[in-house]
Amino acid sequence: MNIVELDKKYVLPTYARVEVEFVKANNATLFDSNGKKYIDFTSGIGVVSVGHANKRVNDAICNQINNITHISNLYYIAPQAKAAQKVVEASGYDMQCFFANSGAEANEGAIKIARKHGERDGEIKRYKIITLKHSFHGRTITTVKATGQEAMHNYFGPFPDGFVYAQNIESIADMLDDHTAGVMIELIQGEGGVEPQDKQKVQALAKLLKEKKIPLIVDEVQTGAYRVGEFSASQAYGIEPEIITLAKGVGGGVPVGIVMTSLKGVLSAGDHGSTFGGNYLSATAVCEVVDILQEYKQSGALDETIEYFDKKLQEYFKQNKELYTECVGFGLMRGLRVKDGDTLTNIINSARENGVMLLKAGRNTLRFLPPLTITKEEIDEGFEALKHISL
Ligand SMILES: *Cc1c(COP(=O)(O)O)cnc(C)c1O
Repeated sequence: MNIVELDKKYVLPTYARVEVEFVKANNATLFDSNGKKYIDFTSGIGVVSVGHANKRVNDAICNQINNITHISNLYYIAPQAKAAQKVVEASGYDMQCFFANSGAEANEGAIKIARKHGERDGEIKRYKIITLKHSFHGRTITTVKATGQEAMHNYFGPFPDGFVYAQNIESIADMLDDHTAGVMIELIQGEGGVEPQDKQKVQALAKLLKEKKIPLIVDEVQTGAYRVGEFSASQAYGIEPEIITLAKGVGGGVPVGIVMTSLKGVLSAGDHGSTFGGNYLSATAVCEVVDILQEYKQSGALDETIEYFDKKLQEYFKQNKELYTECVGFGLMRGLRVKDGDTLTNIINSARENGVMLLKAGRNTLRFLPPLTITKEEIDEGFEALKHISL
């Protein structure tokens, strides 16, 4: 049986897969089973932040797993403590970390912290979490309910209570009440369509929430780990959230989710946990990824790559105004608004046939999430291939 038949027979059909099988990769360059070459403008949906087959990460992981892969969180784990230190220091915030295994799971942890924080003796129990319309926070029963997209709530109920959706950042203020335990937002909505929030409005919200002692949770599963040019988008927006979640890019391809919080005293032993979270394997990956990206940022190379990518994207946008209406996003989280959804699908398919991989976001956004370490040559090659798409 070939791989497609095997998958169709034994794997649940939850993904509309494209019939391409990748067999080899390096940085932002991929090869399929027919030897065809592709430039990867997706980094596995924002995951391989340091590129495919990154030698430093792979060497670090190999060294670690030749010794210990997993013991358990019943004991101290040196790479986990070091990963926490690196992440906290890179963030610039006075926080502590909890290690999970995915973005959804990190968000679950964030919600638990906000809710426990909201349970005040003798006062009204605060439980409500406000999220935004068009948000995306994960696929577990709770995080799918936290996701402000009605279409995702068609099945799977009953859901946990207490999630309400704000139309936009400004309307959150009017929704705060005595029961509000937290507000959870993405600073640039990813799956929702590469939608950056307005900086002033976000700062005003952060200030209001601080006055009301309501924790602000920023879901940085997609925007974190230098995706937007700073370690976190929260830094770029000049805010100090109480809780930040990370996943995707922070493990460089190894499954990991992290909840960071300045609310250090809320959870105590037994309140939360994870069998795998922060084990020797994933924590070692986080240490190396953060080291690499921090050096890359400090050397000026990350900003240079962002600038170069922006220049090429703007050029491509200007030359193709019949397809695209707007160029959005920042850092290496970018998008081009396409006039309609069918055209977008055709662009993605034709781009892939021409050797460049791209993503869809929301209804009509062509999304670019290249590895942060993508080279100028790879960027050039990707945009050159895009010139040849036919619809
Ligand atoms: C991808 C994503 C998630 C879910 O992450 P998983 O690792 O798939 O659980 C949550 N929030 C945001 C903003 C995301 O982009």
